[in-house]
Amino acid sequence: MSVTTYWAEHAWLPHANGPVVERDVLITVADGRITRVAPDSGPCPPGATRLAGLLLPGQANAHSHAFHRALRGSVQVGSGTFWTWRDTMYRFAGVLDPDSYLALATAVYAEMALAGITSVGEFHYLHHAPGGGRYADPNAMGHALIEAAARAGIRITLLDTCYLSSGFGAEPTTPQLRFSDGDSDAWAERVSGLEATEHARIGAAVHSVRAVPAGQLGTVAQWATEAGAPLHVHLSEQTAENDACLAAHGVTPTRLLADHGVLGPRTSAVHATHLTDEDIRLLADSSTNICMCPTTERDLADGIGPARRLAGAGCPITLGSDSHAVIDPFEEARALELDERLHTRTRGHWTANALLRAGGQDGHASLGWPDAGRIEAGALADFTVLALDSVRTAGPPPALGAETAVFAASAADVRHLVVGGRHIVKDGVHQLVPDVAAALSTTIAALRS
Ligand SMILES: [Zn+2]
Repeated sequence: MSVTTYWAEHAWLPHANGPVVERDVLITVADGRITRVAPDSGPCPPGATRLAGLLLPGQANAHSHAFHRALRGSVQVGSGTFWTWRDTMYRFAGVLDPDSYLALATAVYAEMALAGITSVGEFHYLHHAPGGGRYADPNAMGHALIEAAARAGIRITLLDTCYLSSGFGAEPTTPQLRFSDGDSDAWAERVSGLEATEHARIGAAVHSVRAVPAGQLGTVAQWATEAGAPLHVHLSEQTAENDACLAAHGVTPTRLLADHGVLGPRTSAVHATHLTDEDIRLLADSSTNICMCPTTERDLADGIGPARRLAGAGCPITLGSDSHAVIDPFEEARALELDERLHTRTRGHWTANALLRAGGQDGHASLGWPDAGRIEAGALADFTVLALDSVRTAGPPPALGAETAVFAASAADVRHLVVGGRHIVKDGVHQLVPDVAAALSTTIAALRS
């Protein structure tokens, strides 16, 4: 058994009356799990690894499309709509193969590690070769993503996505051919060939009610039920999707998912921007998780989703960086509160503690890692450590560490990352990918050429 001891200058720890920041916290780790947490332990003892700053649970990025990172900048030129953004995205999707995706995703996940993210939910639909031809390994692209997370030192839940049609009943367009397995039975057969590893879990996804015919939603839901796996779905990000669903089926996308058994406590509805009162009730009654992606929703002018109402009704809320316009879990967290303030012109909808829970415990649970996202004995030893002495974070007393983290810190303030007891980011330097910026630059330039 390998035993490591970490000493945190400050740590955000669970407490009967809600989380509090404690000091001089000794954390013992054996075989990747926390075995003991001891606050007020005095100075860092010899043999322990000193972690200056504020130790938080590792952050979960519950919604990612790794290849969208290659679009950063390009899709911010000029104006355009969600749909013109999608055309640009399809151009990058058309040039990736398993080798180039491994290189790109390794760099993207390394960027996530530097930003404080210990687990990613990869909503993966780039399954086949351009034009729809099959690779020798039908899961070559998924395996590339799992390997990329291993190389970047983080956990991954591969949310293998069923994507069959370009609209309600329409055949896939040329760029979408590589996303499609033909039908949901073929999707299920292929996905059943993927296996979990120590750092990877396998989940399912329905791309959207646009991309999976109603009659085939049940197959995906059933696969997830039998596997006990997370099931994610893009939901009502754009009003055009709602209009088309009403025209095709006479019901909202939420109602369609509910009627086909897609909602439930293992399910995450991503975005959930444009909902009716009945939609909110259906999501809450089924304890469906809601994954908000505020920086992407902002970038794509989606609108502000009813996160506060959904949470009040009983839905756990999680956070994702989705299109990776930025990768910064602290920006996603504060956006939830700040967007709500602009929308309502009142303050105080979310506490910093609640937002850290969204990025920690609830985010991990939604990805099938219920034993991560909190600092206590028995949990996975996944830590994100923020500097409290940077130009952004200096000043507030450490007792206000949660507020400082959520409302002032940025990805650039992440000083250490520990995943399963392994020290992946040390003093701001990734220990497995030596130059993350160069890796991003090289891999993205290769796709553009
Ligand atoms: Zn998405």
